[in-house]
Amino acid sequence: MRVHLINPSHLAFGVAVITPRWLYVLAAATPAEYGDPIIVDETLEQLKPETIAPGDVVGIGIHSGNALRGYEVGRLIRERGATVIYGGIHATLYPEEALELGGAHAVVKGDGDRIWPLVIKACLEGGQQPIYDGGRIEGGSMLKARWDLLPPERYMWASVQTVRGCPKHCSFCSVWRTDGQKPRVRSSDAVVEEIVELRRKGFRFIALADDNFYPVAMADLKMADRREDKTTLNNLLAIRQERFDLMDRLSRLPKDLIFFTQITMEAAEDIEFLAAMKKANIKGALVGVESVTPEGLKDIYKDFNFAGEELVQRLKLFREHGVHVLGSFIFGLPSDRPETFDATAALAQRADVTFAQFVMLTPFPGTVDFQRWEEAMEKEGTKIGGIPITRHWLIPQAQRPKVYSPHPVMGPDEIRNRTQKVWDDFYSLPNIWKRSKVTPNLKGRLAFVLISKLYRQMYANTGIATDSARVARAEKWARLLAPPTRRLFSAAPMPDLQVPN
Ligand code: SF4
Repeated sequence: MRVHLINPSHLAFGVAVITPRWLYVLAAATPAEYGDPIIVDETLEQLKPETIAPGDVVGIGIHSGNALRGYEVGRLIRERGATVIYGGIHATLYPEEALELGGAHAVVKGDGDRIWPLVIKACLEGGQQPIYDGGRIEGGSMLKARWDLLPPERYMWASVQTVRGCPKHCSFCSVWRTDGQKPRVRSSDAVVEEIVELRRKGFRFIALADDNFYPVAMADLKMADRREDKTTLNNLLAIRQERFDLMDRLSRLPKDLIFFTQITMEAAEDIEFLAAMKKANIKGALVGVESVTPEGLKDIYKDFNFAGEELVQRLKLFREHGVHVLGSFIFGLPSDRPETFDATAALAQRADVTFAQFVMLTPFPGTVDFQRWEEAMEKEGTKIGGIPITRHWLIPQAQRPKVYSPHPVMGPDEIRNRTQKVWDDFYSLPNIWKRSKVTPNLKGRLAFVLISKLYRQMYANTGIATDSARVARAEKWARLLAPPTRRLFSAAPMPDLQVPN
């Protein structure tokens, strides 16, 4: 009997940008008595079904974007006589669906770190329950990933998690509902040990794959300070201090290690935090800008963000403190108008954003937006190929709509075309070359151009285009660009590197 862990994907690029951390964490959770699990990341290569034998146990992790491929893989594996167990955000939200459509023997909701060995054991003994709940484990119980199982030369950046959960409540995001609003912080010892292991292997770029690296904003502290009972304030101060302690430890690692993370724009008001990020070599952050207008921010319950010129100043503050911003923008909000697209593109350039992604509003399961949209759409009863649009992740990729919510003034094609145009402009060669000045030398500029083009091929052309030829072309280009780009991100291994005291 072997244990397999599969990250399903309908597109494979041969080389991927970031390591799918969950695979290596569940590998760590797999008891040694079953041997090392066989790991398949389909963003690299598709699963070879003949590698699965009757009696094997297979864990499949799904989010809404890859659930359909995950179910296909699950059914195929079950036919081969193996036991199929699902986990991940989508399985947490729709466990019955995985049982019904994905050939699941069991489904794990919530965090898998602790419950995974129990589920394997129950499955092998034949007495498994259909649904398990792994709950939300505390930071101290989160496992270190088994990076020793990583295939060589396949990933550009490694990923390490430092905190799970986000105290905000954006309407388009499911993180605060699935991972919870209470930040669950990992110890800096565990985080630094993993980073040192990755640097030993030659990884120089590490994504701190957190829901929100800045979980305590100044506004939260002020609000807590107004209360007579100081328990909340003290808890928040402890979390904040822990962030500083972690950044202090990162700053003592080899200087060629570069970190990226994900934070809210509020961090720009916290100069002390930005300075600590700079010292820790956290050189980039994905910042959810979402909308450049106050109306747009209200649409998504994100009015703690800034709009207009104030937004430009905020974003520039990151750059002034050495943190490059990957700005994330959403198009298709009810208050968006045709001129919003150009205004957003212009603002992204003006605000010195180093990278940007422009996504179309999609009602993802588990979000407040989805709940409202589902109620409205159920009345209409729209189906595509016999599948209700409210289950859009089950619609085959080629027929899946790109825009889901009826817009007051623009049609779906207009929103899609305008979004595509913004991507095309932002990632045009002259614009990329101009932005590449942020790197120190020619090699850096080349890496910047390659990663920008790759990013666009992987995420824009395969995600927005409806034309299958364009998607296929993008996949081909991404396959060509990915290997040389990966080489630019790697470094000579440091096998003797020790964890700093
Ligand atoms: S979008 Fe970001 S800030 Fe908003 S709830 Fe999700 S993780 Fe938190």
